[in-house]
Amino acid sequence: MLTLTTDGAAGTVTGSRHLLTRGNQRILINCGLFQGFKYLRDLNRAPFPVEPGSIGAVVLTHAHLDHCGYLPKLVADGFRGPIYATPATREVAEIILRDSGHIQEKEAEYANRKGFTRHKPARPLYGVKKAERALQAFVVVDFHAPTTILGDAELIYRHAGHILGAATATISWAGRKIAFSGDLGRYGDEVMIDPEPVEEADHVVIESTYGNRRHDQTDPVKALAALISRAAARGGTIVIPSFAVGRAQSLLYYIAKLKQDGRFRNLPVFLDSPMAIDASELLCAHPDDHRMCADICRKTCAIATYVRDVEGSKAIIATPYPKIVISASGMATGGRVLHHIRAFAPDRRNLILFTGFQAAGTRGRSMVDGASEVKMFGEWVPVRAEIADLPMLSAHADADELLRWLGGFSAPPKRVIIVHGEPDAAEALRVKIGRELGG
Ligand SMILES: [Zn+2]
Repeated sequence: MLTLTTDGAAGTVTGSRHLLTRGNQRILINCGLFQGFKYLRDLNRAPFPVEPGSIGAVVLTHAHLDHCGYLPKLVADGFRGPIYATPATREVAEIILRDSGHIQEKEAEYANRKGFTRHKPARPLYGVKKAERALQAFVVVDFHAPTTILGDAELIYRHAGHILGAATATISWAGRKIAFSGDLGRYGDEVMIDPEPVEEADHVVIESTYGNRRHDQTDPVKALAALISRAAARGGTIVIPSFAVGRAQSLLYYIAKLKQDGRFRNLPVFLDSPMAIDASELLCAHPDDHRMCADICRKTCAIATYVRDVEGSKAIIATPYPKIVISASGMATGGRVLHHIRAFAPDRRNLILFTGFQAAGTRGRSMVDGASEVKMFGEWVPVRAEIADLPMLSAHADADELLRWLGGFSAPPKRVIIVHGEPDAAEALRVKIGRELGG
């Protein structure tokens, strides 16, 4: 008998972890970190629900931190099997996991130095060394290539759009076929390809990040241009917290398009994130995973000044003229963007522009919800800058797009299991599926 347990992502959009069990064999689908509220982040410190050594294989759908960020801890705690991923996901995971280890080491060190930790001493969940150990366990699987895992299960990856390398995973095991959507991207996105349909499955596990939303149909380039020109006219700086992989590159693409049309010629653009810089270079190396031709890819990547070192990052803050700064992390949960928010949020001329999903409990969500101050580095920072949100730039499918993907099955799946959404979003999607697909 095959059983499915979803650990992480029930009732939250982070910490995606689904476990398929048959007898004493286990396949873990995604192995994400929890982000957002402290009670969620504390779950990262809790023991894994099953003994990591008892899991035979991990199947990754893509390399965002909330889908792969717990892997180094899983390996450190005894997981010894292969971690399956598409070729680009393997490379993106290398960037993301190393960075995650590095950030955690830095944060623990900073908290200990400044003495604002309740845990004494503060310890990272894992550092760069453990991240590297997890990366050694990766086994690359091409899109559409049926692959035998754990002796008698079969895995097939199909394109999910979303970010470079992102896939849906269909696993056939013990006479059942289960399709895991992972995060699905948008249809008709200018940069990423459409989510590919899965023709058949007995069960579907679908993520519902935007299960209760319809993305604004406004042209993202126009919306972006209007916000940037307003802030630039005030003499303000535009800080764009961005997921380093995926959104950062789409933003560069849209800004490059505007500059090509003669807009914002004198407004310098800085990509202040070593991880986003590496990811931009990866994009040009995987032309089959997105819609940009080599020439556009090169031109897009060339519009920004790349800032790798901390000195360069500090220099951006010190320059007095208007500029666009794209920096990670996308929900302002960590990373260099915090230094930019601390520097630019107190001045009302500036604009902090969010472009992706903001999970409950993150600084990003509280700023979008109108917070007048946010806490970072142990101090409260006043927020007087304009705060804007362009969710249509999100890499996540909205409710209609989730339905469109579900409509791609030739026969309705026996069961659709909705995960990875905050409760309202999951419930809204459940109602919509019942009404429109009769399932
Ligand atoms: Zn994702």
